Amino acid sequence: MTARLLLAALLALVLTACGGTAGGSGSARSTDVVRGDTFEEDVQLAKVYGEQFWKAQFEALGRTYEPVTEFIPYRGEDGPSCGGEPSTPENAFYCPDGHFIAYDRDWLDSFWEKLGDGSTYLIILHEIGHAVQAQQGTEFRLNVERELQADCYAGAALAGLVKANVLNPEEGDDTELMANLEAAGDPSDDWFRPDAHGTAQQRQRAFTNGYANGVGAC
Ligand SMILES: [Zn+2]
Repeated sequence: MTARLLLAALLALVLTACGGTAGGSGSARSTDVVRGDTFEEDVQLAKVYGEQFWKAQFEALGRTYEPVTEFIPYRGEDGPSCGGEPSTPENAFYCPDGHFIAYDRDWLDSFWEKLGDGSTYLIILHEIGHAVQAQQGTEFRLNVERELQADCYAGAALAGLVKANVLNPEEGDDTELMANLEAAGDPSDDWFRPDAHGTAQQRQRAFTNGYANGVGAC
């Protein structure tokens, strides 16, 4: 598998989400785009280019993006603690105390295998979104608001990377990304749960909004 993010499919997705007709236009770009051929490579690409995107966003506002100190892969119970809280298996998280991102490597890899490499970009860009929120000092009343904004930021960052020709979308990527968000959705729309992330539809909408309308819309 390669870095499959098909521009045409994503555009179709965005158009569909906006109520328009899905166009079948768009030939895949073939210039100097990066491609990950393994899970590890996709993690690297998502990290490097995700942070590059935010660095430029911050610079445009006359601010400085503070890169995440570390991306820490862990296995099962072996993860780093965050502010005294132990990490849990099958998770990825941003820790404000230390400004790092950690992820259960095998868990993330299993999504890469099952759902495609879009999952890696989605999750890493979502966590980088939390690192951005921490630097913005945004206050959220509900956890779900924080999570949906991180999904929106992930969409905006992905779109930015596609526009900058860093990533080359491939056929099926829209379905892949939506399937990932679907799988990550909460079973019920319980906004007050402290661990709420939003339903599948809410997450898909937030991501698509960021993809179509950019950071400002998040
Ligand atoms: Zn999150």
